[in-house]
Amino acid sequence: MSITNSQYDQIMKKYEERQLQSRYELDERLAKISRLAPEFPKLTEKISSLSVAYGKQFLLGDDSALTRMKEELSLLKQQKEQLLSSIGFSLKDLEPSYTCTLCQDKGYMKNEKCSCFKQQIIDLLYEQSNLKDSLTENNFSKLSFSYYEGEDLQRFENAVKTCRNFIRHFNLDYHNLFFYGTVGTGKSFLSGCIAKELMDAGYSVLYFSAVNFFERLAQISFHSTSKEELDNLFDDLYSCDLLIIDDLGTELTNNFSSSQFFSCLNERILRKKSFIISTNLSLQELRDRYSDRIFSRITSNFDLCKITGPDIRMYNKRLNNRK
Ligand SMILES: [Zn+2]
Repeated sequence: MSITNSQYDQIMKKYEERQLQSRYELDERLAKISRLAPEFPKLTEKISSLSVAYGKQFLLGDDSALTRMKEELSLLKQQKEQLLSSIGFSLKDLEPSYTCTLCQDKGYMKNEKCSCFKQQIIDLLYEQSNLKDSLTENNFSKLSFSYYEGEDLQRFENAVKTCRNFIRHFNLDYHNLFFYGTVGTGKSFLSGCIAKELMDAGYSVLYFSAVNFFERLAQISFHSTSKEELDNLFDDLYSCDLLIIDDLGTELTNNFSSSQFFSCLNERILRKKSFIISTNLSLQELRDRYSDRIFSRITSNFDLCKITGPDIRMYNKRLNNRK
């Protein structure tokens, strides 16, 4: 699971708060019960001392005393239940009420993270990915081959296969993907599919449109109020499990952004952290637009996936207009 130590601490703090809250609520309930039914504490005490006595008799093996006590205990318990119900409570109200009954808000079950903990990590990953909203449309459940035919279909099928392999072997094999080809052919869609699957498995993903990515770099490098802010951004960029840059080539490039981009590429490749880049540029245009070292890093470290076909957004727009 890829969250930072401070994010982990934040989650654990939430669990502590929940436990405190449920203990506080329980105390409040018990106080209210005693107020509404003053005989309740005595009855509870009677039950617990009888239970202790019952235990002792059990050890002594006195069968007839055991039967007597058993009957008495069950009678007292019935009384307790009736008393509670007469003031609008039930036996359940005598226990803390947990948000997660599995781990009782501890976050862990037998040294393993509870499903509620894992879900919180996933929520956090979605939140910080910049992708949260788009993933409702961009995920494998919305995958369709019907837009493609002939050679386009072949390419798209290959790309989907590459994506599935990328996800399956994410932890075992280091790979980067480079989607290129004509506009609107599903490149961003496939990046989204991968992002969703990986985040659901607990990996951290960061998504940027190229415009945003370069703007963010420039903004932070030139206008950052603190070194910490700068360090945080680079830490995120270098250490997230997957970094996606969408629509490379739509940004304004200059020497500064180009060298920042190279550093990011280089650093992630050194750290064996995966990258997905998508672009509408051809390989020739990529070479013309960026430096030789960027071009060579991409072509030698990325699986190149060419996707072609009709512009799906335009296709759907026309279809909707016809309706
Ligand atoms: Zn739980």
